[in-house]
Amino acid sequence: MYQVYALKYAERDLTACQFFYREASHAPLTLHYYVWLILGGPHPILVDTGFLDDEARARGIRNYVSPAAMVERAGIKPGDVPIALITHLHYDHWAGHSLFPRAEYWIQRDEVAFWTGPFGRYEAFRQSANPDALARLVTLNYANRVRIIEGDREVLPGLRVHRVGGHTAGLQIVTVETGRGTVVLTSDASHFYRNVETRQPVQIMTSLPEMLAAFETIHTLAGAERLIVAGHDPEVADRFERVEPGIIKIV
Ligand SMILES: [Zn+2]
Repeated sequence: MYQVYALKYAERDLTACQFFYREASHAPLTLHYYVWLILGGPHPILVDTGFLDDEARARGIRNYVSPAAMVERAGIKPGDVPIALITHLHYDHWAGHSLFPRAEYWIQRDEVAFWTGPFGRYEAFRQSANPDALARLVTLNYANRVRIIEGDREVLPGLRVHRVGGHTAGLQIVTVETGRGTVVLTSDASHFYRNVETRQPVQIMTSLPEMLAAFETIHTLAGAERLIVAGHDPEVADRFERVEPGIIKIV
């Protein structure tokens, strides 16, 4: 039986109008940054890798703790993670990959193509990128450390990735079958519960129709149990079980 944890490693303050699509309100908005850990299978599975401390300083992000330290506090040595599912290649999900030195990174083909393709030069996309970390996709691939996948895929029995796109070209979300229902790790297919629950888009996207369709996919996959884990919402700690500071047990 799988156990799923959300591990918070940083926080950032914005305003609603900087984040939600066509939002006029200047109300404050706090993002929490997470990686997710799935235990109970033959080996641990990590979802995303966070970023390094240089990024926290450069972007004015507070309360940074290394994602590797959070994984260790959850009982797993960072070097003992054999698979990291990368939901997408934004800096806050990919730039920390070196913290997990033996992981194979599973990334959607559309996502790799996008960030190595013609749009990386535009500020609208570059601001979400860490170019040095993206460049390492090539060397890691030749070192047999990147598994490029396409569409929906079983990772382990009852544990799947689903390509949804929208926020980024090849964004994938993760489902985990548990005794209490299907946990849906939305990552940035729904940064906040407000996104998926009111079908509210965010400003950063490659396809608005795909982003809207992803909200419906999340609801369908989650079913009646609604074990939805939003990607950057502080409310995750209120909806699920706070085990200790920064460690939230989903199931
Ligand atoms: Zn993110």
